[in-house]
Amino acid sequence: MTYIVTEACIKCKYMDCVEVCPVDCFYEGENFLVINPNECIDCGVCEPECPAEAILPDTEDGLEEWLEINTKYSEEWPNITVKGETPADADDWKGKEGKKELLSTNPGKGD
Ligand code: SF4
Ligand code: SF4
Repeated sequence: MTYIVTEACIKCKYMDCVEVCPVDCFYEGENFLVINPNECIDCGVCEPECPAEAILPDTEDGLEEWLEINTKYSEEWPNITVKGETPADADDWKGKEGKKELLSTNPGKGD
């Protein structure tokens, strides 16, 4: 099993999660973060840190697509270990449904 980042992170990207990960396995896209499932040690520390409740164990039902997204983009996007600037409109997007089509495949800046 692994933890993965899901739809609720899109355009929220608070980044509280990256600071607590003991193995630095978060990767940054333009408006989304992913976890590298091959590096995550399943410690679960990041899950309660996410204000958007976007981090879930992949053992929950219906998350196959998000596992694929985390796997794919963690190979392409830069690593991020330090909390960056939260988008100004992050709170407006928190809890919104149907954000998946807004997921940018562009890489973020990383650190
Ligand atoms: S804390 Fe949650 S919303 Fe913020 S970047 Fe991490 S997974 Fe995304
Ligand atoms: S579960 Fe632990 S190892 Fe996996 S991403 Fe979260 S903090 Fe990092």
